[in-house]
Amino acid sequence: MYTVDLHNHTIFSYDGSNTPEEIIENAINAGVDVIGITDHQFSIGEKNLPIYYRHIQHCKIKYADRIRVLCGLEIGTRPSPPENLPKATEMFDYVLFESLDDPRAMDFYEFLEWRRQFKCKAGLAHCDIFRLAERYGVDIFKIMRDYDIFWELNTSGNYIYYYDFLTNLKKQKLVKESGIAVSVGSDTHFIAEYRKKQIRRANELLQTLGIPLP
Ligand SMILES: [Zn+2]
Repeated sequence: MYTVDLHNHTIFSYDGSNTPEEIIENAINAGVDVIGITDHQFSIGEKNLPIYYRHIQHCKIKYADRIRVLCGLEIGTRPSPPENLPKATEMFDYVLFESLDDPRAMDFYEFLEWRRQFKCKAGLAHCDIFRLAERYGVDIFKIMRDYDIFWELNTSGNYIYYYDFLTNLKKQKLVKESGIAVSVGSDTHFIAEYRKKQIRRANELLQTLGIPLP
């Protein structure tokens, strides 16, 4: 089975406890094929973003024969993030926008305008897209296709929408038929708590359903 984990925090995040190398080596031991590092934009800080990027590039090369490493960034949307991020992340593999379904998050239409400015891939981290669709009364799948946005199954255990999706055949069918891409993210902040089984389970489900990865 092909296993991806595209949401991980390191000491570049205020709440991460491990170095990128520790996160990557732990993923190798857990049988992960693609590991994405996605530290918080607000704790890395604008001036340190290039240092973070270079560090992850170095890791890509260092571990190239054992695992594929991707450089991502998690961007907070409560409140609106700084305007310079599309430019600052041009070279990144992807960005994750977090908690867009939260009532305190930036306006969804404002977000869509902003997303257009990003050149890299973009995903919605821990976001209940069904709830978002209901709140704005929109065809969320069409929007995600049009704006090239993928969805994340967040296996951290903190989000109900993930457990719902595991067993909700109707939602599984809707996502499968929509053609949107879906990633898996452990949202790891501390490798001792790495939820290997959940990550495998989510990857397995997506592959069984034939839902594409980003
Ligand atoms: Zn996170």
